[in-house]
Amino acid sequence: MNNLGKNIHYYRNKKGLTSEQLGRLLSVSSDLILLWEKGERLPSEEMLDKMATIFGIETDALKQENAKEKVTQIRVYKPRGKLIGVCARCGKSIYANDKYGIGSVRKTTGHRQEQIQYHYDPSENEGYDYFCEDCCQEIVSLNQLHHEEKYHKMERRLSKARIGGVIASIVGLGSGLLIAFLLYFLTTDPRIAYVCAAASLVLGYYAFSLVYTLIIRSDWIAKTIYGFAKMGYKSFPRHVSERDAQGVLKNFFIAFLFYIATYLAVSIVLAVLTVILGMISMFSWPSAKLKHLRKMEEMEAQLYGQKAQ
Ligand SMILES: [Zn+2]
Repeated sequence: MNNLGKNIHYYRNKKGLTSEQLGRLLSVSSDLILLWEKGERLPSEEMLDKMATIFGIETDALKQENAKEKVTQIRVYKPRGKLIGVCARCGKSIYANDKYGIGSVRKTTGHRQEQIQYHYDPSENEGYDYFCEDCCQEIVSLNQLHHEEKYHKMERRLSKARIGGVIASIVGLGSGLLIAFLLYFLTTDPRIAYVCAAASLVLGYYAFSLVYTLIIRSDWIAKTIYGFAKMGYKSFPRHVSERDAQGVLKNFFIAFLFYIATYLAVSIVLAVLTVILGMISMFSWPSAKLKHLRKMEEMEAQLYGQKAQ
């Protein structure tokens, strides 16, 4: 046992600390403390400083032959715990007993978007980045700001879309009715005008949905088809990566194409529906009514015939 070891042993006992307790305060094993005390290992200068602080003495006192106690100003040594990593955002050291977040920061092009999740069990989160508490707070508030901004934008767009859609539907419905009105007077057969009036409803609805979706940019139809296409082409997701700008552009272009395609498909369906509606109102409904009228006439004739007899 050398002087240093003796001194460490002496001051540790004087302080009433077990080797485990001292080890924990220094973030080293209790075995290492015992090795220092036996003189089989030498603690670093940094460790000596820390020990002196814990014992409330000067560092030199630990090295002296006849340890003369020199009680210094008592500094409170706060154990920081094991160093577990550095903040992926600002590079600050993070210790086990600090508050920290684990997750990943996701950045999207255009506006900065950052996402993070909080966890406090390092064993659960291998492979994730560490973030210091300040950075976590900042990221969370940035996220909130971003979401609020997005929400307000969406709200504004929604009200715009509603107004635009209603105006468009009135224009569509009105123009259909106007044509029907003109046809009623210009043609000899008013049934064409009835068909046009019926179709104006479809036109109105179509105009509404077109303007509404154009303003809101709600491309759920395109997205659905895009999803199917993604399933179809196995290599698609690799080519269309949302992370790089080119991928975003490609993504947008393909979505736009599908958007147009779906609109064409929808308009064809609507046209077919209009034709069917027209057929029904032109042939089926009037002919059924005619048949009914004829039947009534026959019945009437029979009734009057009976009376006459
Ligand atoms: Zn940080």
